Amino acid sequence: MEWKIERIRDRCATCAKVFTHEQRVISAIATDEQQRAVRRDLCGNCVPAADSGVVWWETRFQEQEQKKKKKVDFDRLLRVFEAWQKSPPLDSDSLRYLITLLLVRKRFLKLIDLVSEEGREFLRLRRPGPTEQWYLTPAPLLTPADLPPLRARLEELIDGSFDEVELPTASDTTAATS
Ligand SMILES: [Zn+2]
Repeated sequence: MEWKIERIRDRCATCAKVFTHEQRVISAIATDEQQRAVRRDLCGNCVPAADSGVVWWETRFQEQEQKKKKKVDFDRLLRVFEAWQKSPPLDSDSLRYLITLLLVRKRFLKLIDLVSEEGREFLRLRRPGPTEQWYLTPAPLLTPADLPPLRARLEELIDGSFDEVELPTASDTTAATS
């Protein structure tokens, strides 16, 4: 697995216009030419179409890199989870699995059980609330070494940093199987 992590985003990913301080910036989780998930920061003229199914949110561009880490917006993470239920990017199983575990830990989703289908394992989940929803999401085998790069990739995608307490532990990943 390999991906490029862009640290500096000082211009629109579509029209290349340089952002100015406090300018409204739209961050969207889209897919690149290889159909892999990427975050694109866009100016107000390049907003994704409303029916594109792309998850996006607004920020204000800061010329000075903020020292304080941005907290993860779990509602945003849930929107990504739901969008990827409909059309998952290529090679996103591990990422989706991590997102699922994070959402279970935050009680946005309830883990029901682990099911096997055609030799692959999936988590069966329920979203509590008035509009109860059921989901099936891939549960690939991850080693502890897989987690740091996966976490870095997710933090980059959703533009936020997880607190250690928010991260899934080994017991979260085995809870479904026990
Ligand atoms: Zn633009």
